[in-house]
Amino acid sequence: MSNPQNSEPKKTALVAVELALSQILADVRPIEETEVLVLNDALGRILAADFLAPLDVPPADNSAMDGYCYCREDVPDEGARLPISQRIPAGKAPQALKRGTAARIFTGAEMPAGADVVVMQEVCTLHGDSVEVPARAVGNDIRRRGQDVQAGQVVIAKGARLAAQHIGLLASMGVARVAVLRRLKVAVLSTGDELVEPGQPLHAGQIYNANRYTLSALLQQLNVDVIDLGIVPDRLDATEIALREAAEKADCILSSGGVSVGEEDHVKTAIERLGDLTLWKLAIKPGKPFAYGHVLNTPFLALPGNPAAAFVTFLILCRPWLQKAQGGLDHAPIEVRLAADFSHEKAAPRQEYLRARAELRDGQWWAVPFHNQSSGILFSACWGNGLAVVPLNETIAHGQLVRFISY
Ligand code: AMP
Ligand code: MG
Repeated sequence: MSNPQNSEPKKTALVAVELALSQILADVRPIEETEVLVLNDALGRILAADFLAPLDVPPADNSAMDGYCYCREDVPDEGARLPISQRIPAGKAPQALKRGTAARIFTGAEMPAGADVVVMQEVCTLHGDSVEVPARAVGNDIRRRGQDVQAGQVVIAKGARLAAQHIGLLASMGVARVAVLRRLKVAVLSTGDELVEPGQPLHAGQIYNANRYTLSALLQQLNVDVIDLGIVPDRLDATEIALREAAEKADCILSSGGVSVGEEDHVKTAIERLGDLTLWKLAIKPGKPFAYGHVLNTPFLALPGNPAAAFVTFLILCRPWLQKAQGGLDHAPIEVRLAADFSHEKAAPRQEYLRARAELRDGQWWAVPFHNQSSGILFSACWGNGLAVVPLNETIAHGQLVRFISY
């Protein structure tokens, strides 16, 4: 229903998704405050500065095999029998190798000074306290000092999100604490008089609040500090109060619903009264009513109320914005090209993000869209595992390669 008081011209030009994204990303002021965490608390956090390796990994040459090591010069081309002068298991400091002898050595054990060949035990023959080593052993079974990481090398770049492998690499360099950027605080509001929290009885006219939980979960995946401000009634005064509180408490605000042009939609008016609206109405389907602005200088991303639209606009617009705000390096989601298991004959004035499933059939990966793409159908996002993109003003023929953004 259109609002008679709304002074917006009837047809606002829709902003293309790529333009909207570049505009909102340009507005991000990334977090700069840092904190130091023990490794076990650092998963998913953003590294505050380039990390230089404090030492070589491995710290010394070591054996890649269970076998024998010796000095290549001590063994003629046809092989030799060498007395075994020491036994070096992993964890033991070796002694310098006595010339003309071999040392028994195990995987991960440090090479003794004077040895430059390791041969695996399978190609050697043991004779009491001596070992027969083969002719022309290749001796590639040494892991060289620094072959993983060299002291001074930048091993993890500033802005990287620490994943399990980064945490492990830091541990391998003996690092116990790491400086990360502080968590981004994100306030979440769900607008709508019809909303009821899960666990409560549902009365006529009501629906359960899905977006609050979808958005909180998506935010948790980004490791932000979620400030959940609950449900906001469909009244301008209540919306303004909630937005003021959100602006004071958080680095940015995310809301769902109330951003269309109906008489019960107050978010847009509230932003205009408390700050500025820099972007409204995108050429995106689902998610056209998306808005961006500031409330008392706090950035505000207003998502549509329809659950699938809230989900899609979060992934396409909010997630890159939040990642940049967190101080993260990578904002663009990884996408692949899949064959369209659909056709789109009429070019449309909105870029469409179809909830779709990547399916392997006869050696070919297909993007199969859910049969109902209505913006209210959240099940489509559960059935699917990604978004297939139908670009603005383009047609798609069956089998044509399309962008697929896996979520
Ligand atoms: P709105 O943008 O407020 O007009 O909402 C659009 C549609 O999404 C309406 O059908 C709402 O009932 C529905 N909706 C809004 N917020 C939520 C929510 N938090 N959870 C589930 N559905 C919602
Ligand atoms: Mg509403």
